[in-house]
Amino acid sequence: MIIQDDLCVGCGECVDICPGGAIHLQEDSGAAQISQQLCLECRVCIRWDGCPTNAFQEENSLPWPRSVRRVFSDPVTTFEETTVSGRGTEEMKTNDVTHRFPPGSYGLSIDVGRPNVGAYLRDVDKITRVLAEAGADFSRNNPIFTLMTDPEKGCLSSEVLNERVLSAVVECTVTPDQLPDAIRCLQDISREIDTVFSLGFIANVTELRDREALHDLLRECGIGAENSAKINVGLGRKEP
Ligand code: SF4
Ligand code: SF4
Repeated sequence: MIIQDDLCVGCGECVDICPGGAIHLQEDSGAAQISQQLCLECRVCIRWDGCPTNAFQEENSLPWPRSVRRVFSDPVTTFEETTVSGRGTEEMKTNDVTHRFPPGSYGLSIDVGRPNVGAYLRDVDKITRVLAEAGADFSRNNPIFTLMTDPEKGCLSSEVLNERVLSAVVECTVTPDQLPDAIRCLQDISREIDTVFSLGFIANVTELRDREALHDLLRECGIGAENSAKINVGLGRKEP
């Protein structure tokens, strides 16, 4: 995304609407400018439609690897390989339809980055590498998987590591035996991650019948569990 210098009148209205913190007013000219390193290609500035002079100009087709920024940052962009919009994955909330986390295993979803914070894919790479060491099996129907050059080791393509996105969701399956190690690895690596991330734990709805056993398992991993939980039923489509 760029701002056309000759159209910008320096009103500053756009600065605060950018979730990437990428827009600033230049000291000399007073015109707004977009940091290409920080820009997420989220298109919020276009959808906002508040620039009095329509000074924003976007490239219709972003070159690789910059194009991954839009996939993970613009919720109305559809990811080609998964045909899903909004970070390209139908996520854990579709589990009762997609069965991506079957009984006898647990799903982990790691939501990396937030609006106004963002995330570099090099931090996602650190997370997928430690999860791979813990034995995690990554969800195929997720853009992060398609960016991996070595899914066994959780390595993302070196070409994308410096790309900045609004947020990305890593999804994987672990066995009950692998779960404590996976959580410990995430706790350890969190000190090296230069953004925020949250950990989602997904159990098949049938396993909620033995809720106490699940709680005990999580407590053993150092995570307190409450009886309140978010339950999504009936969302999603069957995976091909
Ligand atoms: S809203 Fe438009 S005119 Fe105002 S600073 Fe931003 S780009 Fe310039
Ligand atoms: S595309 Fe998004 S990150 Fe880039 S300048 Fe516009 S609002 Fe900011």
